[in-house]
Amino acid sequence: MDCIRCHIRMNKEIKNGVLIDTCPICDGVWLDKDELKMLETGEKKLNADLLKELYNEVERERFSLEQKDGLCPKCDTSALVPTMVKDVEIDRCPSCHGAFFDWGEIEAILEAGGEE
Ligand SMILES: [Zn+2]
Ligand SMILES: [Zn+2]
Repeated sequence: MDCIRCHIRMNKEIKNGVLIDTCPICDGVWLDKDELKMLETGEKKLNADLLKELYNEVERERFSLEQKDGLCPKCDTSALVPTMVKDVEIDRCPSCHGAFFDWGEIEAILEAGGEE
């Protein structure tokens, strides 16, 4: 998928047991539904599942048409809606419930919610 700000292809990274998309330019991060929650709770997916997910996403994006401006980079269905999560504003998709963050915003959310 492409970064909603920079319009370049994002990198896929496995971080803390979830598969995330990161932008090499602006440090933006795309999290799918539930991935933020997993980062918060420390829950991890199995490596085999992550690799399968990575493979499926790469395959799907290889054939996806050019991204439409202003629409969710994941599902191309809805425009992202600014949403407040723990005093941090993120851009969230009302269709697939994925969300676009700055990496610093994820850290702020993790700090606000983490007991560690
Ligand atoms: Zn970017
Ligand atoms: Zn979406």
